[in-house]
Amino acid sequence: MKLQSLLLLALLAVPAAAMDIPESWTTPVEPFRVAGNIYYVGTAELSSWLIVTPEGYFLLDAPLEENVELILGNIEKLGFDPKKIRVLLNSHAHVDHAGGLAAIKAKTGARLYLSKADAELAARGGRDDFAFGDDAAYPPVTADVILLDGQGVTLGGFAPGGTTLVAYLTPGHTKGNTTWTTRVREGDREFLVVFAPSLSAPGYKLARNDSYPEIVDDYRATFERLGNLADPARPTPDIFLSTHGSFFDLAKKAAALRAGGTENPFVSPDEFREFVDYWRQAFEKSLEKQRDPK
Ligand SMILES: [Zn+2]
Repeated sequence: MKLQSLLLLALLAVPAAAMDIPESWTTPVEPFRVAGNIYYVGTAELSSWLIVTPEGYFLLDAPLEENVELILGNIEKLGFDPKKIRVLLNSHAHVDHAGGLAAIKAKTGARLYLSKADAELAARGGRDDFAFGDDAAYPPVTADVILLDGQGVTLGGFAPGGTTLVAYLTPGHTKGNTTWTTRVREGDREFLVVFAPSLSAPGYKLARNDSYPEIVDDYRATFERLGNLADPARPTPDIFLSTHGSFFDLAKKAAALRAGGTENPFVSPDEFREFVDYWRQAFEKSLEKQRDPK
């Protein structure tokens, strides 16, 4: 992973005041099947994932209200009916990943599953965020189910094509920041998939943060936990996907997939560990700087 592009992203991932929306956040890209029953239906930079089962679909993330028609159009383009979205999931309740949830929930009647802390943030439409205040607001949306750590959400039961997504609470970037994993089949192979969360701390006050006093402990516990998930001695995620296209080289891999080849370019077992290590180091560096400004 290129350091430079990640640094740039750390800046881009800030929901800016007055919302100067980077062009790439709304730039359309051709929707496509990533692996197994997972499809990409987001924009050039902001991810949205459709996971198809015989009993309806999961939609993970609805980036920006402005993108809702584009996302639903992408789903139709792939030959699926957006009305069959049964479950709405979210990586974290910032506008660039949750801004379209209210509109999609209203159109589909899907049930929204959120962690407790991000359900509170989503219910306020992103207002009173511990870092951004009211600067990155979006249409408020109410969760139907509050997720517990380690909870699985299943569609299609245990029948062929049935799929479970598992939620891991990985707070820091938001208080209810959530990592999702699932398994997909490609022919006779099975892959562990991680939908990695945003791990940046864009402009965050890390030292003595009165509106999020446990922020440092939360980030460190999250890095530890994701580090274990990426431990080569354990079942390591084979397919690394994430919230922002440039976190996982979306454009390059999508082009490689289109070009065809023997191995799916999204199968890349080392990248998740590199991603976690990169942000862990960036976090510790920022913290050190804030505690000991030179
Ligand atoms: Zn965010």
